[in-house]
Amino acid sequence: MAEDLTGACLCGAVRYRCRGEPESMGLCQCDRCQRQSGSAFLIAVVYPQNAVRIEQGDLSVYTVNDPDGAALSRHFCALCGSAVMITLDRYPNIRSMMGGTVDDKSRLKPTFSLWCSSGQPWLALPEAIEQFPEYPDGLIA
Ligand SMILES: [Zn+2]
Ligand SMILES: [Zn+2]
Repeated sequence: MAEDLTGACLCGAVRYRCRGEPESMGLCQCDRCQRQSGSAFLIAVVYPQNAVRIEQGDLSVYTVNDPDGAALSRHFCALCGSAVMITLDRYPNIRSMMGGTVDDKSRLKPTFSLWCSSGQPWLALPEAIEQFPEYPDGLIA
């Protein structure tokens, strides 16, 4: 049995625990994720909804419709603003944890990247990371 994956926001007010190994791990380089992360991409660590427990702290939420009209909610620490989790109306049974908040970063092994067409031109990813120009339907859930 894999060890739980634990994580926290920058200030430590929010802590979470995910049971076992994630279903998938990927990057997103879309314009919205660049804005929210303040960086060239975010790291999504995808777990079944029932494997994720917020153990401590309060998450604020910003919800907006994605380009296809489905609500996408970005949950962040109300104190320090760290992005912690994404939930999607389209895939209610998964939770996407933000890789930068994971305690043991050696467990971060992304296998794909979405929205490479919106990415920074100087960003070169290893070949082992499958690169999609946009978002192929059904990849995450
Ligand atoms: Zn915080
Ligand atoms: Zn994105």
